[in-house]
Amino acid sequence: MSKLESVETLVIGSGPGGYVAALRSSQLGMKTAIVERGQLGGVCTHVGCIPSKALIAEAHRYEVLRQFNQADAAASFVNAQAFKQEIVNKQAGGVGFLMKTAGVNILKGEASLIDEHTAIIKQNGAEQTISFKNAVLATGSRPIELKAFPFGGRILSSTEALSLPEAPTSLVVIGGGYIGVELGQMYAKFGTKVTILEGGERVLPGFEADLVAPVVKQLKTDGVDIVTGATAEKVVQNVDTITLHYSKGQEQHHVAAEFVLVTVGRKPNTDGGLGLGRIGLPVTSKGLIETDEQCRTVIPHIFAIGDITAGPALAHKASYEAKIAAEAIAGQAAKVDYKAMPLVVFSEPELASVGLSETEAKEKALPIVIGKSSFTINGRALALRAAEGYIKIVAKQDSGIVLGAQIVGVEASTLISELALAIEMGATVEDLALTIHPHPTLGEVIMEAAENAVRKMDNTK
Ligand SMILES: Cc1cc2nc3c(=O)[nH]c(=O)nc-3n(C[C@H](O)[C@H](O)[C@H](O)COP(=O)(O)OP(=O)(O)OC[C@H]3O[C@@H](n4cnc5c(N)ncnc54)[C@H](O)[C@@H]3O)c2cc1C
Repeated sequence: MSKLESVETLVIGSGPGGYVAALRSSQLGMKTAIVERGQLGGVCTHVGCIPSKALIAEAHRYEVLRQFNQADAAASFVNAQAFKQEIVNKQAGGVGFLMKTAGVNILKGEASLIDEHTAIIKQNGAEQTISFKNAVLATGSRPIELKAFPFGGRILSSTEALSLPEAPTSLVVIGGGYIGVELGQMYAKFGTKVTILEGGERVLPGFEADLVAPVVKQLKTDGVDIVTGATAEKVVQNVDTITLHYSKGQEQHHVAAEFVLVTVGRKPNTDGGLGLGRIGLPVTSKGLIETDEQCRTVIPHIFAIGDITAGPALAHKASYEAKIAAEAIAGQAAKVDYKAMPLVVFSEPELASVGLSETEAKEKALPIVIGKSSFTINGRALALRAAEGYIKIVAKQDSGIVLGAQIVGVEASTLISELALAIEMGATVEDLALTIHPHPTLGEVIMEAAENAVRKMDNTK
């Protein structure tokens, strides 16, 4: 067992939380090491954001070719998988390059905390010890496995679903959250018969019902069957299919498919050999680590960020917290403020939300004004054959200060950043309305929604 010299910051996990924390820590002049038991880049790079968006984009390109009668489904899917792997490798290589150029020491292996200032890193039977002044825990999450549906064979988690060598003829998705909807729709576009089973009343419950409606409409157009209020009960494996039995109210149903994909949520990696119990760091009943506004745990020199902490399990949240934690370690006064944290679903049409929704504002009985405008007459959206959807801005009734915004429509994922900036800057709907937006662009819909809010405010004066 070799004793490695000590570091100022030890980061455990190299996902979008961990690698950004290591980079920022090193930029701030601290001697930093990062430990990774798998591949550099974490879930987001290898089995999350990047591969899913690559396959979704390829599904859209395939759909266009199909519309022009130039598509071969099987070959297109094989090409899509190859393209996905190419960009995953590029991104992962980029993380390694960033770490090396920033002078971060990369340690390969599984980290276990031995005491409050020491970790052991194990790989292939070899062990090394490292002592640290501060640690950032960024161990991320893994798919939740349901007892009745253990992963393996024809039961897939999102990880396997992103790496199927060919598009299946049929797929049942258990769980209508964003991962289930994104992957289900992607496969439907490649010709797979997809059924989504959702226990609740509707898919994508994190978004307002009227916003989700255009997505449900498109899912139906893509041939996706959505069964809500359904409880998956058991599976029966057949020779080359799998039959899923579920109940809906008092009725029993079943559906057979080539594969079942389980996307019912994610579980934080705070168990196993990490050693939180050994150092007395508690976790909640959901396995999450509680932190303060600087991402500090109850042990003041140990920080936790990303999917192992409360809040939405999203890559940009992990990276945001990473910078705060590194700056706090460096003695800066940084603290988190989640007011302008965007949420995006890469469905067709895309969904995006930031800040307060109309429903939340009404629940809080806040005096608000709503500005709305649709993509239906936007020239750019029409040219893109994607004129479905609208933008809604929630602003304070008296001052017009933007509190939140929701978008359903083409490029919602890109458009939402302007509205996040507006919230971050304390901008008003008038500021947005007075900003010259180039024509013809999708961004004009933001300007028009803001103008709509300004008119309503004028009418109430
Ligand atoms: C299919 C899918 C699609 C997604 N799409 C999006 C999206 O479009 N946008 C978005 O914002 N988010 C998306 N996410 C969520 C996003 O991937 C996560 O929120 C993000 O990866 C969390 O980052 P993290 O740094 O907390 O942890 P992770 O990315 O989970 O990384 C943690 C790393 O720590 C390592 N590790 C764990 N324990 C140890 C240990 N003891 N020692 C050493 N290493 C360890 C793991 O191997 C892993 O590499 C998606 C997720 C999935 C599954």
